[in-house]
Amino acid sequence: MSNPTIQHYINGQMSEGTSGQSQDVFNPATGKVTGRVALANQDDVGQAVAAASAAFPAWADTPPIRRARVMFKFLELLNRHKDELAEAITREHGKVFTDAQGEVARGIDIVEFACGIPQLLKGDYTEQVSTGIDNWTTRQPLGVVAGITPFNFPVMVPMWMFPVAIAAGNSFILKPSPIDPSASLMVADLLKQAGLPDGVFNVVQGDKTAVEALIEHPDVMALSFVGSTPIANLIYENGARHGKRIQALGGAKNHMVVMPDADMDKAVDALIGAAYGSAGERCMAISVAVLVGDVADKIVPRLAERARDLKVKNGMDLDAEMGPIVSAAAHQRITGYIEKGVNEGASLIVDGREFNASGTGDGCDEGFWMGGSLFDHVTQEMTIYKEEIFGPVLACVRVPDIATAIQLINDHEFGNGVSCFTESGSVAREFGRRIQIGMVGINVPIPVPMAWHGFGGWKRSMFGDTHAYGEEGVRFYTRQKSIMQRWSDSIDAGAEFVMPTAK
Ligand code: NAD
Repeated sequence: MSNPTIQHYINGQMSEGTSGQSQDVFNPATGKVTGRVALANQDDVGQAVAAASAAFPAWADTPPIRRARVMFKFLELLNRHKDELAEAITREHGKVFTDAQGEVARGIDIVEFACGIPQLLKGDYTEQVSTGIDNWTTRQPLGVVAGITPFNFPVMVPMWMFPVAIAAGNSFILKPSPIDPSASLMVADLLKQAGLPDGVFNVVQGDKTAVEALIEHPDVMALSFVGSTPIANLIYENGARHGKRIQALGGAKNHMVVMPDADMDKAVDALIGAAYGSAGERCMAISVAVLVGDVADKIVPRLAERARDLKVKNGMDLDAEMGPIVSAAAHQRITGYIEKGVNEGASLIVDGREFNASGTGDGCDEGFWMGGSLFDHVTQEMTIYKEEIFGPVLACVRVPDIATAIQLINDHEFGNGVSCFTESGSVAREFGRRIQIGMVGINVPIPVPMAWHGFGGWKRSMFGDTHAYGEEGVRFYTRQKSIMQRWSDSIDAGAEFVMPTAK
């Protein structure tokens, strides 16, 4: 085995770990191996948990304002190094650099939110709940908490978790995706430079073995997971069996309804950007266009033209609109879905498999390239409608009216994001009220909530009660304590045998 270039980060130090296991990391644009990432075993996870446990008491005791000051310093460093982080994302994930910059910016939003932790932890106080008695509630950190994150946002999704968790006084173990692990170590270094004590933030690289070790470890109090639905479901159930607090965000199939009264130019722009941006590898990507009435005849030809003209190039090329697919396996999976769509009778208007990679950039001939694909006449029974493809494939479904559109979306097993393009206030209002989806956009194709509003889907797009980040995130990473207090001059002599009531 060659030495892993991408290691664990435990107790403020890089560590090769003890497993002797590692796997290749690729640049998807060239298809070449750029490094190897260590894969943690149970002992490596044990070391990270021990470091996090040792760091927890002092960090939890640090006044929130001082924890917030570390976050402010981290924020300053992130802003200074944001383009280096974006470059690392493009190198291992493949998404275009400008999109990677957007990812980092949305992560930074959460750090800004976490800087307000003293206000968020303030608690409630009621004077005189009974004569001479006051009652207040506080929120205290849980202890060691862990985050398991997907390949598609190697900076932003970890930042949905650890800034809030750490600011709230927990110590944190990040288990990033082994597909694009480098950014996690850059973040660890910036946290150290910001003055975060060793052991408060740790990274264990790895996959299933590391995740299982985190779930089974008795000192890990809570796990946040973001990834595909089958694994989210597994982690939720397995975590519950081990008595953990779990928040598990899963996959998606996001619809965008276009009403006949919508601005068609803007609807086409929105569909193209939201379906093919980041090669469709976003949990909030639009993968189904629900075209109401005569909308399909108006916009399918325009969507086809735009899908054929996408600038699919190496992500560091500044006018690139779409980069490569993340891995050879993902490329194969997406190709398989396109084939299935054709076999099941959908009309393949633009076939991304025919894409010629020669114009993508120097050294890119062996990369994991594909163009955008567009299907029309997709129906509810087809596999390409039912399952998450997670690639640059847009399926158009034709419906007669808004009621059918709402029913179609509500019947889907996923419930992450949805959008409706209309100029009608009453359609928009009715849509927002009736739709069974966690995040709704009206003329907004990718309605990812801002840092203080919290992120989370419904149905099989999320398992658990509290959404990620925002005030829900603070609740997830803390537990409430109620304290009731009185002093002896208000205490009557004698034992009370009845249930205490307000006097
Ligand atoms: P994935 O489920 O394959 O992996 C997610 C994480 O789980 C990774 O860290 C991976 O190493 C780990 N993992 C993989 N197999 C495991 C197993 N058997 N047991 C335990 N852990 C395991 O997902 P991915 O391919 O990295 O990411 C894409 C998926 O994530 C898509 O389904 C996408 O919709 C979803 N996603 C959801 C959201 C959301 O907020 N709902 C956000 C981003 C991505």
